[in-house]
Amino acid sequence: MPDFTAPVMPATLLEKLKGCKTLPSLPIIALKIIELARSPSAGTSDLAQLIASDPSLSTKILAAANSVFYGSDEHGTLQHAINRLGMDSALSLALSFGLTRHSKQKTNGMCLDTFWKRSVISGMVVREIKKQLKLTFDVETIFLAAIIQDIGMLALNELDPDIYGVIFHSSRSHRQLASFEEREYGTCHAQVGYWLGTHWGLPAKYTQLIATSHLAAKKIPSHAIAEKVLALSGLLADPWISHNQEMAMTLAYQASQEYLGMSEQQFSLLLVGIQDKLPEVAKLFEIKTPAKIDTFKLLQEAKQLLVERNLRMMQKLEKQQKEIDELRKNSKKLQEQLKKDPLTGIYNRQYTEKQLNKYFKTMPSIDNSLAVIFIDLDFFKTINDQYGHAIGDAALCAFASTLEQEVDIGSMAGRYGGEEFVVLMPGYGQKAALTFAKRLQEHLATTPLLSHNKEDIYISASMGLAVHDLTETDDKQLQFEDADSLVKAADQAMYSAKRTGRNRILLYTQEGYQDLST
Ligand code: GH3
Ligand code: MG
Ligand code: MG
Repeated sequence: MPDFTAPVMPATLLEKLKGCKTLPSLPIIALKIIELARSPSAGTSDLAQLIASDPSLSTKILAAANSVFYGSDEHGTLQHAINRLGMDSALSLALSFGLTRHSKQKTNGMCLDTFWKRSVISGMVVREIKKQLKLTFDVETIFLAAIIQDIGMLALNELDPDIYGVIFHSSRSHRQLASFEEREYGTCHAQVGYWLGTHWGLPAKYTQLIATSHLAAKKIPSHAIAEKVLALSGLLADPWISHNQEMAMTLAYQASQEYLGMSEQQFSLLLVGIQDKLPEVAKLFEIKTPAKIDTFKLLQEAKQLLVERNLRMMQKLEKQQKEIDELRKNSKKLQEQLKKDPLTGIYNRQYTEKQLNKYFKTMPSIDNSLAVIFIDLDFFKTINDQYGHAIGDAALCAFASTLEQEVDIGSMAGRYGGEEFVVLMPGYGQKAALTFAKRLQEHLATTPLLSHNKEDIYISASMGLAVHDLTETDDKQLQFEDADSLVKAADQAMYSAKRTGRNRILLYTQEGYQDLST
């Protein structure tokens, strides 16, 4: 892995591991091979000499060299076989035998039989991928790394077999096993394996690979083929050892696409290749031959499962998208509603004030003047008294829609309170604003707001006009400090209109109020 950072183990777990008396240890021969592997000057004759000192290992190496692993049926001496394999292959083979010499007898906790089956099949997967996909990676290193990738499990099992047994037997997949370990120990067996491998003195290239053996496809750089093959190897072994073969096959098939972009045909051929060689390799590594699986049927089931899952996912996505659209629509609607007065449907006071402030602040960059008209309906109480509250409401609605129809484009009208309304006219000077006010006054005088029992109801209004005008800089009275004082001035002018007889338009000036009605 290009940027490798050594994993940090939780301190309590580290203490326990260091204090564990039954931690798996290496056979002497394996230790000697590791030492040899560290020496750059060691050659095949040194290795042959070392292996020859261990008769059972010698037999195995000879058998392996002439087996399906290396596609040879030659028979010769050990030195001959090692020369033919080459130093790297011979070393990784010798080490893999040395390391797998651990007890395969039943113990408490995890199932060792399953463990070693996964280990050996993972190694086979690596060789088979190399052979069939012709990818460029150091097959000998990854072969050995695949075989020892889960050694951390052996260590965790020794700490407390009862606890680890429950974790091992209750997990439905290797990924789930790792997540159960995380929960129990704060780390997973890949990290513990890194520690154990380092403790044994394994070369760093192997221990680093162990540490990264659980990486998800997207976390591995695209050029790191070896790491991808390793991460895939265990998942591809799982269909032979899992209780839920269908699920294991589905995960393996999916992973073959994610990690290496394998086609269905490549995947299928890979399975067949492994299945064919399993009996011979199992014998070589002294494990029980894993039961044959129906690779074709399982693959079809896996494909079906994936199709169904994709379909479900797409339906879920579609539903979520619809909900998001709906929410967006609703929130837009809600935002619009928040600006409106519930009775009349025109803008409410809050929004009108917000807009007034905005208009005021953007001056003079956009407009040089801003006119505000404060409108209060005359004797409105009598409408309620005479016709009832419902008619009063209807009259307010009618007035609001009149106002909306009458205001020019670019102006806005809002309801300020009870029967008070405000019109904001950005860009309007006194003259233009007055034209509008007069037109409204005229309209109210000539058009009934509504009729009740065939009786037309007319309502007049008192209006106060104030203009904030930056064009006439020498006329101080026309400039206001802020939006609030501008609207207050219009309100005061309106009050003055009330006092002077109603149905009038009064302009706020520095000298007082000027009646513009006539
Ligand atoms: P003035 O000419 O002095 O403005 O007289 P007015 O009767 O219009 O003024 P006043 O402030 O005395 O009364 C306002 C009335 O408007 C009283 C109140 O019941 C009525 N009003 C305020 N809001 C509503 C409303 O939402 N619906 C109805 N139907 N009436 C309302
Ligand atoms: Mg693992
Ligand atoms: Mg009134």
